[in-house]
Amino acid sequence: MSNRTIIVVGAGVVGLCVAYHAIKRGAKVTIVDRDPAGDKASYGNAGCIAVSEVLPASVPGLWKKVPRWILDPLGPLSLRITHIPRLLPWLWNFAQAGSSAEVERISGALAALNHRVYADLVPLLADIGLSGDLHRKGALTVYESEKGWHAATPEWEAKQRLGIDVRHLSADQARELEPALGPLVKRAVLTPQWSHISDPKRVVDSLRSWLTANGARVLAAQVSRIAPSPKGGTVTLADSSVLNASKIVVAAGAWSAELSRQVGDIALLESERGYNTTIAAPQIALHRTMIFAERNFVAAPLSIGLRIGGAAEFGGLLATPNFARSKGLVELAKAYLPGLDGAGGILWSGHRPATPDTLPVISRSATHGHILYAFGHGHLGLTQGPTTGKLIGDLLCGRDPPIPLEPYAIERFSAAGRTTSRKAYGFPSIGI
Ligand SMILES: Cc1cc2nc3c(=O)[nH]c(=O)nc-3n(C[C@H](O)[C@H](O)[C@H](O)COP(=O)(O)OP(=O)(O)OC[C@H]3O[C@@H](n4cnc5c(N)ncnc54)[C@H](O)[C@@H]3O)c2cc1C
Repeated sequence: MSNRTIIVVGAGVVGLCVAYHAIKRGAKVTIVDRDPAGDKASYGNAGCIAVSEVLPASVPGLWKKVPRWILDPLGPLSLRITHIPRLLPWLWNFAQAGSSAEVERISGALAALNHRVYADLVPLLADIGLSGDLHRKGALTVYESEKGWHAATPEWEAKQRLGIDVRHLSADQARELEPALGPLVKRAVLTPQWSHISDPKRVVDSLRSWLTANGARVLAAQVSRIAPSPKGGTVTLADSSVLNASKIVVAAGAWSAELSRQVGDIALLESERGYNTTIAAPQIALHRTMIFAERNFVAAPLSIGLRIGGAAEFGGLLATPNFARSKGLVELAKAYLPGLDGAGGILWSGHRPATPDTLPVISRSATHGHILYAFGHGHLGLTQGPTTGKLIGDLLCGRDPPIPLEPYAIERFSAAGRTTSRKAYGFPSIGI
């Protein structure tokens, strides 16, 4: 691949991992991002290597919980009313993904990716000097009621069938592992394969430094257009200059669908905004990620402080953030962690690139083989970034990838679009 020039659009964790694998295979790489070192989902996420998350977000019975979540102003889910018309095709496909047959298919595809994660992540961290930043301590999912724990049994059994190590603990066993937990906790589940990293920003910063030290060019520019050309593709920047490449990889996170549309590929992709607060001196110590199952949020012990985060807000890419959500999560956490001091917390929010079936897009363009896609990783972009980089690297150099890539193909949205509306994103007729 040494004579190949690859342009990667997007310097989030996914784009950087793609660039890493392209460089490793000898390509000349240019990464274009309007703000390469700036804030993005990859910078402020919870730092979890969440390999045990192998079930899609849409599962049978989920819809029963939705009204309660939406009615709570700081609940785990919110939809901005003005965005709902645009969201309908996505919501319809989200509902379709929740059938039993689809959940089984999607879970298998998520597990196939997640089972590869450490094989791809560990050498990458070693190369960029961050081996010591990976903490393989597992995660503890806690329940405040027996009812909540019982209701989750099918979910845990499904995960076990997919190779996830699941250990049920009593409240006392949970408090032995994490003495900061208070009496609210009644049950817990330990998932030892989960891990966390010290600081997600350090990963993107170190990866970018490694890439520039190894010959990649990082260009700070807005991409306004991508187009196929006979020998590859062109990238037009906001100042109208044009870059040529033999291959272009779109890894622009939640902004990727507009770029794929220019090539003629439909992607159902939404911003699922998440929130967190990072507390440098929380006055408690956690050893591993805690997942508060009935309230849908997490606390991750990063080197820069305790990061408490969650929430799923569908309001589009332009909606202003509501940081009351970040603050509300800290108040919720205090109920589980009575010694927690939330003072001085830094509030943050970012756009998760969410597909309706929870699967990322790791794919060639349906019509132009020189354009490739690596986006839509939702809650798992840090977890699956290195594996996505490896798989796209294989596609770039014409090698067979180690897992079948059909489940992640961009064509799946066109097929879904045909069954749900005449024109994707038009969607005038289905009411849900
Ligand atoms: C609150 C929260 C917590 C999370 N926790 C976790 C976690 O614990 N573990 C995990 O695995 N994942 C987690 N995630 C998800 C993860 O952060 C994302 O899936 C991942 O960061 C997406 O990476 P990306 O590279 O695709 O996108 P981004 O990081 O969003 O990067 C996309 C880049 O593309 C650039 N770009 C876009 N359009 C253009 C354009 N036209 N021209 C130039 N540049 C452009 C942007 O500037 C941006 O830098 C979390 C997300 C959130 C919001």
